[in-house]
Amino acid sequence: MAPISDTQIEEVRSRADIVEVIGAHVRLRKAGRNFVGLCPFHNEKTPSFTVNREKGFFHCFGCGAGGTVFNFLMKMEGATFPEAVRSLANRYGVTIAEEARRDPRASADRETMLRAAEVASDFFAHVLWEERAGAPARAYLKKRGIDIESAKTFKLGFAPAGASLAAALSKRRLLEAGARIGLVKVSGSQAADTFYARLMFPIHDAAGRVIAFGGRVLDDRLPKYINSPESPLYSKARNLYGLAQARGAIAKADRAIVVEGYIDAIALAQAGFRETVASLGTALTVEQLRLLGRYTRNVFACFDRDRAGHGASLRAVRTFLEAGMLGRGIFIPQGFDPDTLVKERGAQSFAALIDSAELLVDYFVRSEAAAAGSSVSGRARAAEHVAELLALVNNAFEFDLLTRKAAEMLGVREEVLRAQARKGSPPALRASRETPVQRTAPARDMRTIAELGVLAIAVAYPELREEILASGALSDFEDRALAAVAAELCASGSEPAQALVALRLAPEQQDALSAQMLDPLLDNAESARRMLEECGRALARWRRTREVKGLVAAAAAAGESEATAAAQAIILRRREQAKAAR
Ligand SMILES: [Zn+2]
Repeated sequence: MAPISDTQIEEVRSRADIVEVIGAHVRLRKAGRNFVGLCPFHNEKTPSFTVNREKGFFHCFGCGAGGTVFNFLMKMEGATFPEAVRSLANRYGVTIAEEARRDPRASADRETMLRAAEVASDFFAHVLWEERAGAPARAYLKKRGIDIESAKTFKLGFAPAGASLAAALSKRRLLEAGARIGLVKVSGSQAADTFYARLMFPIHDAAGRVIAFGGRVLDDRLPKYINSPESPLYSKARNLYGLAQARGAIAKADRAIVVEGYIDAIALAQAGFRETVASLGTALTVEQLRLLGRYTRNVFACFDRDRAGHGASLRAVRTFLEAGMLGRGIFIPQGFDPDTLVKERGAQSFAALIDSAELLVDYFVRSEAAAAGSSVSGRARAAEHVAELLALVNNAFEFDLLTRKAAEMLGVREEVLRAQARKGSPPALRASRETPVQRTAPARDMRTIAELGVLAIAVAYPELREEILASGALSDFEDRALAAVAAELCASGSEPAQALVALRLAPEQQDALSAQMLDPLLDNAESARRMLEECGRALARWRRTREVKGLVAAAAAAGESEATAAAQAIILRRREQAKAAR
């Protein structure tokens, strides 16, 4: 994919509310100008994780993690920079122009297909509620206990018999677009509807646009369900049914429930579990979990309490770990599905299942332990399976806790399990786990702090940028790459520059910069200017020291005595001081 332009990245950053984005993952409370909470990147009991909305940065004064809203998503969800930008662009309604620019026709096509899907959705809803043909479907909803409000929230509809949708699309010149997303089949001058005599469930993207449909028969006809095919608008592995309706509730409850069927999702929402989505008839995918990860990390997946459900849950644990989540399993008693359970036994019976939902990893270890029995070879094999799974856990703290618990459950030594799991994980993860679990902020030298201090001032106070350029402080930077970033930034006038630094700096530099951004010294322009002067003086001093050292070394290499070299250095410094005084 083509790179996203800097201005667009900045547009996404300024539209995305950093407090809102982080607030979906961390419980934040207001403290003065900042928001504080418990750091999601290290284990702590008193909050040192700080977010500042105006400055657009977060920083943890415990472990040193920090940066912009993009860095947060990258750390939290394991996203790449472009993925973080796109996910926020999508959420905050910024169109990444690069896609449109690349192929304007593709984008026009997409708009037309979206329009066809919307026309179809309105058409089906009209038939359901306003036409005589919709009567059997209305009766069916009543029988299934789906109330009118829920049906309207999920925009249900009814596809009548005959080629009625084809005619409606044709009238609006959308027949071809409708065919491309599988709503109609066109051959020659004939057009036939794909869905007929079916209750229709529109599938929306996260932004609430219709992208596909599921259709259910009202009787015992087979197949019971048919769904839109994969299309330029729709991929079942990358979407979740009901997400548009549930996303607010998911962020608020800080949890999501995943079921399999449309009706299960609607029934749970109706029973008060509005944070429910359905997986569109596939086993949960990593992409679907990443999608949910924008709103919460606490995902509960429903499984049948039978053999098939057991197998499905064991496969799901791997998917969860690959998506960077732990995940919990809700096991629905035999003979029920979520829909019939809440209807026959009430919402509290489902709430009780949520409360007792086990971590899928624990469930996996427990069933491995049970299957292994007491034989040595059985337990060794179980430990191997568990180690393979633990190798996928990429949060060092979670890895530590899970390994300890698993070793206990399996009755093997923790060190052995730990070593085995490390063998199976990618090198980068392995390295991160060698270090102690409790991270502490890395110590930085004063020069780096001063250089990043100047950069932080330039980000926070556009009005000081010209002054920084004029002061010559940037030529005193030892880190020339950082000096180049600072120069680019200062030359950018008064534009916000958070996105620019997010783009140009290495992750460790982001961590350090965010600490400076949140320093109270930067809370007003006057103390920021004093800080700038101090940094400037220190940087000039260090630069001269470097030059003197360089001269001494060069002189020594040329065979001159150290004394001569030192004398030359003193002369050089005097000359420079005199120049500065003029
Ligand atoms: Zn931290």
